Amino acid sequence: MNIIILGPQGSGKGTQANLLAQKKELFHLETGKILRGLAGQKTILGEKIADFQRQGKLVPNEITIEALKSFLTEENFKKGILFDGFPRNLVQAELLIKELAKYHGVIDKVIFLKISFEESLRRLLARRNCPVCGRSYNLVTLPPKNGEVCDDCGVQLIARKDENEEAIKQRLAAYQKETVPLIDYYRQKNLLLEINGERPIDVIHQDILEKIG
Ligand SMILES: [Zn+2]
Repeated sequence: MNIIILGPQGSGKGTQANLLAQKKELFHLETGKILRGLAGQKTILGEKIADFQRQGKLVPNEITIEALKSFLTEENFKKGILFDGFPRNLVQAELLIKELAKYHGVIDKVIFLKISFEESLRRLLARRNCPVCGRSYNLVTLPPKNGEVCDDCGVQLIARKDENEEAIKQRLAAYQKETVPLIDYYRQKNLLLEINGERPIDVIHQDILEKIG
């Protein structure tokens, strides 16, 4: 089974993808992690990716596909792939169909974690990190035990510099603009499973399992 998981930042997409991949023994294709990994390497592809990331730009479609190709293997398709962070737009969705066709594979389901703009914003503004050990918290979804101090170190937690309201709003708006057509596309193909993302983690996980069958 090949599954795509979609959802804005703050929707809990990463958490749900990890749970689902483990439960269903799928290969978890974490696009962001793969791109970051390649960007740290001194290869032509790695340096191209690093360039875009340094400029704060999204990595273009062709380069993303190039980066993911080595993971789109017969072995992984046999296991089933959970696509996380890809496709991000219609062009990538079409490229994926072509890659899948090489292995006679299809996309079986598309999970869309639905969460309001306001709730995404509220959760993203609640992100905190420990400046000593780097542990991450969320004052809304994953709060520390006491106030705003690290459970392990007892020091005051801090917010990331790029986590200001204006920057977050811009990222969320860009996400919406690019993915709304993608969501319609999969809805028309009858592949879309809309999941209410404004519930506890385990409730959402069970809901996903029931819906994918
Ligand atoms: Zn700490």
